[in-house]
Amino acid sequence: MASGLYGRTLVRELVLDLLLPPRCAACAHVLDRRARGAAPQPGDALCARCLRRAAALVLPRFAAAHLAPGVRAIGAFAYTGVVAEALRAVKVSGHHSAAAGLGALLRATVPLPPGVTVSWIPPSPRKLRARGVDLVRAIAGPGASPLLATVGERPDQTALAPDLRRRSPAGGFVATAAVPAAVVLVDDVRTTGATAAAAAAALHAAGAERVLVVTLAVGGADARSAAAGTANV
Ligand SMILES: [Zn+2]
Repeated sequence: MASGLYGRTLVRELVLDLLLPPRCAACAHVLDRRARGAAPQPGDALCARCLRRAAALVLPRFAAAHLAPGVRAIGAFAYTGVVAEALRAVKVSGHHSAAAGLGALLRATVPLPPGVTVSWIPPSPRKLRARGVDLVRAIAGPGASPLLATVGERPDQTALAPDLRRRSPAGGFVATAAVPAAVVLVDDVRTTGATAAAAAAALHAAGAERVLVVTLAVGGADARSAAAGTANV
C-alpha cells in the first residue's frame, strides 16, 4: 500500500529500478535479475560473494543477551564487513528493495517460529524525514505488525558517546495497538541495547510479558564478547 509515508519514496524507487539494474548493497556488483513480484530474497540485497562473506559473520549463539526482565535479544551478524557496508548503503540511499532483502537474509539466518507476532522499532520522525523510508519496517518484512510509535524526538544514539547512550532517556516509545503476550521486536543494529530496552518497556507497559529483540547486526561489546566466547571454546 503506497500510503503518504511511502508514496514519494516508492515512486522514486520504482523509477530508479526501471532505469538501473539492481546492485549489491555492499559491493555494488550488478545483481542477477530476479523474478518481479516474488517475496523478498537475500539476493535482492547482496551478491553471492557478499552473501558468503556475510555467512562468515554470523554470531555465535546469535550474541544472545538479557536486556531487562522479560526482554532477551539476539542478532544475526557482527556489525562489520559486508553487513555494515550494506546497512550503511541502505541507510544513505534509502534503497527499499535492498532493505527488504536484508530482512529476508535475517529471517533465513534466524528462523523464527510461525505464528509469533513480529513488530519493529520505529524511527524517530527526524530519522524518517532524513531517510524517507522506514528501513527497519522493511527489514521486519511484510508480515510485521505496527505496535509502537515514538514520542517526541530522541537524541540520535549514534551521535552520542557510548557512556551517554546508556544514560539517554528510557522513554520515547508508546504502544499504538493491542499488544500480545509475546512479541518479536526487529531492529537493524544493537549496540548498547538501550533503544531496544526502551521500546520493549513500552510493549511491557501495554501488556507484553516477553519480548525477543531480533537485530540484523550486533555491534559494540556484545558482538566482541560473542566472538571471544567462540575463540575460547
Ligand atoms: Zn556484493
